[in-house]
Amino acid sequence: MPSTSGYLQIDSLTKRYKEGTAPAVDSVSLSVDEGEFLALLGPSGCGKTTTLRMIAGLIDPTAGTVKVAGKDITHAPVYKRSVGMVFQSYALFPHLDVKSNVAYGLQMRRVPKAEITTKVLEALELVRLGHLADRRITALSGGQQQRVALARAIVINPQLFLMDEPLSNLDAKLRDVMRNEIRGIQQRMGITSVFVTHDQGEALTMADKIAVMSEGTLEQFGTPSDIYERPATRFVAEFVGQANLVEGATFVRAGSASMIELPGAGRLAVPRVSGTQLNGATAMIRPHQLQVRSVARDGDIPARIRSSVYLGDTIQYEVEAGKNILKVQMFADGAPALAVGSEAAVGASTDCVHFIAA
Ligand code: ATP
Repeated sequence: MPSTSGYLQIDSLTKRYKEGTAPAVDSVSLSVDEGEFLALLGPSGCGKTTTLRMIAGLIDPTAGTVKVAGKDITHAPVYKRSVGMVFQSYALFPHLDVKSNVAYGLQMRRVPKAEITTKVLEALELVRLGHLADRRITALSGGQQQRVALARAIVINPQLFLMDEPLSNLDAKLRDVMRNEIRGIQQRMGITSVFVTHDQGEALTMADKIAVMSEGTLEQFGTPSDIYERPATRFVAEFVGQANLVEGATFVRAGSASMIELPGAGRLAVPRVSGTQLNGATAMIRPHQLQVRSVARDGDIPARIRSSVYLGDTIQYEVEAGKNILKVQMFADGAPALAVGSEAAVGASTDCVHFIAA
């Protein structure tokens, strides 16, 4: 569906690198509002970078349009777009110092010298590097280089802030810190941003909107809770977080009780369900929405413990319920000590079970 409003609008955007081959990006349409943070999420090769580069003007689309603030920029050259970009490799100039790297985009735009000095210092303060303005790039840590790349992208106050896997070269701890910093800067500046990642945690924690891509197509576009709680397809359910996917499940209402019939396992009482097709569809139940109990309660189904793994704060069980193998994740505090092979019961917590249409 072509989008009719939004600050950044992509309509039927397509890229075919070679005639006669499958497109790398196939008719992707979406739209985000001014100041929103969009994550392009998907596995390697799904077309995220190609989409980002078409927005940046680094790749010419085969078909479709890109509009920013109502203006069609589909085929505008890069230098005519108001875009700040951060690459995975940072792409800094090693022979220049920190402040000269950040100043580069302003010099290209022929901004007066005094203004450049002020803006560069402001941008460096924003990424907490003011004290290293004169340092050589080669004498910085990976995290510091990343901050320089961020400062260089935002110093021109662009209409769009584009980032291609900017955190992938950092260790896990620093990645968490930089996630928060990027999100903070983006929100303080109110700058419309697009962020490429294959890390679902990054997308869920940072983005206002997520576009999940697979093999060049858009699987689902929505808020993080849309994507996590109400995935449109099996692919999205499995790619974003862990999921139990039970084929051929049926919704049953008995009086005021809601239940789902799991093939071969009986009826599991559930507080809520969502989805458009509630019969014979695939029921998605997140592991944290299930609980293992040593004594069954009303509405539980019988199960046998296949494995139990202690993860510190949580315990991950795998249980057999009829023909279904279900993953269950519980806080270690309230989890029963059940040996592998023992009989148990499984119940659903207060969260909802989502049906994915066949
Ligand atoms: P990754 O996470 O690995 O970077 P991605 O989702 O960003 O992957 P793209 O880099 O957009 O994916 O690539 C999408 C598809 O297009 C892949 O099959 C890739 O091999 C192909 N592709 C990318 N660049 C080119 C090119 N210059 N010429 C031909 N094919 C290309």
